[in-house]
Amino acid sequence: ETAAEASRKAAYFDTPDAATSTSDVTFQSMNLSRPLLKALANLGFEKPTPIQAAAIPVALLGKDVVGGAVTGSGKTAAFVIPILERLLFRDRGKAAATTRVVILCPTRELAVQCHAVATRIGSFTDVRFSLVVGGLSLKGQEAELRTRPDVVIATPGRLIDHLRNSPSFSLDMLDVLIMDEADRMLEEGFAAELGEIISACPKQRQTMLFSATMTDSVDELIRMGLNKPVRLFVDPRKS
Ligand code: ADP
Ligand code: MG
Repeated sequence: ETAAEASRKAAYFDTPDAATSTSDVTFQSMNLSRPLLKALANLGFEKPTPIQAAAIPVALLGKDVVGGAVTGSGKTAAFVIPILERLLFRDRGKAAATTRVVILCPTRELAVQCHAVATRIGSFTDVRFSLVVGGLSLKGQEAELRTRPDVVIATPGRLIDHLRNSPSFSLDMLDVLIMDEADRMLEEGFAAELGEIISACPKQRQTMLFSATMTDSVDELIRMGLNKPVRLFVDPRKS
């Protein structure tokens, strides 16, 4: 990289070299709950990837997170693990049953993949996940949303359909909003939908945004949707 790139990165990210300082972190040393450690072992995840090592401890503190890391760096588990850890200790009373977490993905295919990984990491918990994407029946999804899944994994367009048209679905009690592949969501033309979804969320919430690239429009989305985020960057060449 050029000196100019290096200094821009150093100014932008809180941990310009997260990857170099996290090599001895383990999932055990993060004090994760047993059902999660068991699922991670079953998945063959022996130790956290650099973005996981950097993001999970910060996310567990409830802070907003911006994660910059390329495709294949393990971003899904970086946000799914802290979400599940938080939901394990939620109020399980019937009255408390409502959607607590929304994960937004740019395409149906990526949402399906995210749902599969999240379900596997949560397989020893009672957390319920729901997939809300185009191509599936709106009626069927509405019926599923009425059962108040804890985590909704959605494309922005389809989530908006339900926000506008499914009377029993709201984000009023949301705890965590995740925007995965934010640069791609903006490329797919979802800027207005993202703004509408953010406005429908409570102000008091945790928000995490992950993106392979940090463009001006991603910056704008961060300013709109996140509150004093910790910015984490992982250099792919050190992963
Ligand atoms: P990204 O979203 O950054 O593109 P993914 O979350 O899809 O990356 O993960 C990429 C691949 O790495 C997946 O096949 C996933 O199962 C695997 N993976 C993720 N975390 C770990 C880990 N800690 N150990 C081993 N493999 C992992
Ligand atoms: Mg991903």
